[in-house]
Amino acid sequence: MSKAGGSDDELDLIDYTEEEEATTQATTATTGPGGSYSSSSFKDFLLKEEIMRAIGDCGFEHPSEVQHNAIPAAMLGTDLICQAKSGLGKTACFVIPVLQQIDPKPGQVDTLVLAHTKELAYQICAEFDRLGKYCTTVKPLVIFGGVPVTYHQNKLREMQPNVIIGTPGRVMDLILRGDLKVDKLQRLVLDECDHLIDEIGMRKQVQEIFKKTPRQKQVMVLSATMSKNTKEIARKICKDPQEIYIDDMNMLKLDGLSMYYVKLTEREKLKKLESLLDALDFNQVIIFCKTIARAEQLNQVLKKLAFPSMVAHGRRKTQDRLTAYKDFKDFKCRILVSSQLLGRGVDFEKVNVVINFDMPKNDLEYLHKAGRAGRFGTKGLAISFVCDAEDEEIMAAVRKRYACEITNLPESVDKDVYKNK
Ligand code: ADP
Repeated sequence: MSKAGGSDDELDLIDYTEEEEATTQATTATTGPGGSYSSSSFKDFLLKEEIMRAIGDCGFEHPSEVQHNAIPAAMLGTDLICQAKSGLGKTACFVIPVLQQIDPKPGQVDTLVLAHTKELAYQICAEFDRLGKYCTTVKPLVIFGGVPVTYHQNKLREMQPNVIIGTPGRVMDLILRGDLKVDKLQRLVLDECDHLIDEIGMRKQVQEIFKKTPRQKQVMVLSATMSKNTKEIARKICKDPQEIYIDDMNMLKLDGLSMYYVKLTEREKLKKLESLLDALDFNQVIIFCKTIARAEQLNQVLKKLAFPSMVAHGRRKTQDRLTAYKDFKDFKCRILVSSQLLGRGVDFEKVNVVINFDMPKNDLEYLHKAGRAGRFGTKGLAISFVCDAEDEEIMAAVRKRYACEITNLPESVDKDVYKNK
């Protein structure tokens, strides 16, 4: 349990020495083939019967490597710092320990989970619903901006939730208004934490929220990527954490993914995209653009070309955003054009092809975006359009950092490489 935090703590601090680094309790696990499964069983965790039933309903047979390392410690109340590439089931690493430990008290919020986008918050809440299906006293509520604050005020009053999943702005707002009380909080989770704390605006909000929570609480910090800065902050806000790094950051591999690039000019991009959409045997595809305007425009053009696409970006109305998210998740549409918005954290299990219409802005962004395909050790295909020297530099950085092969896209790609049975 963390005793860090409380009113006088700052998030931006720390001067860890090499020695301290070396003595920190850390697990650097190496993933097996497919990167996902461990040989242990969920039964070994001695979970509540209600949770085991829900796990069975979800069809999870074995815990993944990261779950194997994280869940036993976290369900005993140990703080957690956990970094594993996306798609390996990090959400369950905190959802299961919360469900296992929670002892609901009327009118008290037990757990607060912070996420950087509405979609991710919504998805985490759905995971609480799914894994907590038989834990009838657990009441999760998702809150985020873009809907009238009175809506959440009423929900909080009527529903008396004990698990809150939310984006920092709205959470802070409700705390300041006195509608959301976190003074009895038992657990705080920061999901995709590098995004929550690397961005100055959000980081301030997270800091403010942190100060409102009690000193004594369990803190769990998770991310697919963790910068040195994020790791330092995470260590500052956790107490004797179990640290889990599935592969060293510099050795991260995009297992299961076949990656290619296409060298072309800006003007050739649309034509190439069209031919790829015609030729590839995708279940669902996400096409990433670098700006909202480009995503909007590309979506319009695709529609005109009779491709049934939809678009996701942060400037759409909240309701439209969530409808788009749900429709895509429910397989009502197979082509999604996205800005940066859905580049991280969000899980669309049927996506097996990602196309970077615009090159991600750096190697980390590449990992997050390409990682939307090939979730949980499944196969996938990532194709990036490279059109200038800057794009080429980023591509070189990706190759170097993840020690992976990204080759020129051949005439045709064997669908066995990216199509899951
Ligand atoms: P991450 O947070 O690491 O990106 P998620 O928690 O979103 O990954 O999980 C990715 C996908 O894997 C989800 O569809 C989830 O339901 C599935 N999943 C998680 N754990 C298991 C498991 N033990 N067995 C099978 N599928 C799993």
